[in-house]
Amino acid sequence: MSTPLTLIGLGPMGQAMVRKFLAAGHRVTVWNRTASRADALVEQGATRADTPQAAVDASRLVLLSLTDYAAMHDILGDVELAGKTVVNLSSDTPDQTLKAAAWLAERGAELVVGGVMVPAPLVGEEGAYVFYSGPKDVFEAHEDVLAVIGRPDYLGEDHSLAQLFYQAQLDYFLTALAGVLHSIALVKTAGVPAAKFAPYLRDNLNSISMYLDETVRHLDSGEYPGDAANILMMGATADHIVGASESTGLDAGLPKAVQSLYRRGIEAGRGRESWTALYEVIKGKEN
Ligand code: NDP
Repeated sequence: MSTPLTLIGLGPMGQAMVRKFLAAGHRVTVWNRTASRADALVEQGATRADTPQAAVDASRLVLLSLTDYAAMHDILGDVELAGKTVVNLSSDTPDQTLKAAAWLAERGAELVVGGVMVPAPLVGEEGAYVFYSGPKDVFEAHEDVLAVIGRPDYLGEDHSLAQLFYQAQLDYFLTALAGVLHSIALVKTAGVPAAKFAPYLRDNLNSISMYLDETVRHLDSGEYPGDAANILMMGATADHIVGASESTGLDAGLPKAVQSLYRRGIEAGRGRESWTALYEVIKGKEN
């Protein structure tokens, strides 16, 4: 069935989505601050709206793919939104997301929050998925259309959930990528090409998922038996990585952040527990 929908925000992600919606036979109205970014999409069948108000008026379902939620306020600040469903697929903090839900509710609109879990070229391809949260009935009313850009994974009524899952995935992703860079940088200080080290690092990357089941068991039970890799042993290695970084002149900010976790774990008397007990440091005092 052809559904009219509006998509505002035509960065790489928004453009990829519009192409998929058009290919699925939907009627897509687009608006972007830099109007020229819509040119190719209009040639492919999208309708260009001249103003944000005209874009919103064209469809009940309004998708946003913007840098952050501030951009939504900039664009929709003066727009009449009553009766609309806004699916915001932009990244931001859970707090901004909750504020946006209240802001839209005051204007008579519903917010469904989305977090797209693939890079733009993979939108709508096999394996692509998108986290959603917000009112279940509103999500379900649009689920079939949303499935065009990836498998919709609905997390619950709390608007901030999709944003929290999205940021949690990116938390791991960004930290892991920075770790990859730092690790290669260390080897390159000896004049060794990254390619020589790559097979070993690949092995290391592939092994990370082996630790997940045990980690989940420890974090959900609150028990961290430290028979194999305890905080004292791992903490000594964390010190050595900082030492190796400093002696080779590398930026030591990243390993120092890790070292700080281990030091605080030891100070808290958890040295003989598994490294997973660092969760007690990470979670802070309020949780
Ligand atoms: P970009 O930052 O490239 O594009 C952002 C869009 O937001 C552009 O259309 C831009 O307009 C618009 N925009 C930003 N600020 C304003 C503003 N103040 N007023 C009006 N328009 C504004 O992002 P992407 O397309 O790459 O991504 C969109 C969202 O999807 C982001 O939240 C990103 O985190 C998320 N995402 C992206 C992925 C990717 O691979 N790209 C992967 C997964 C999620 P203009 O063209 O005029 O600058």
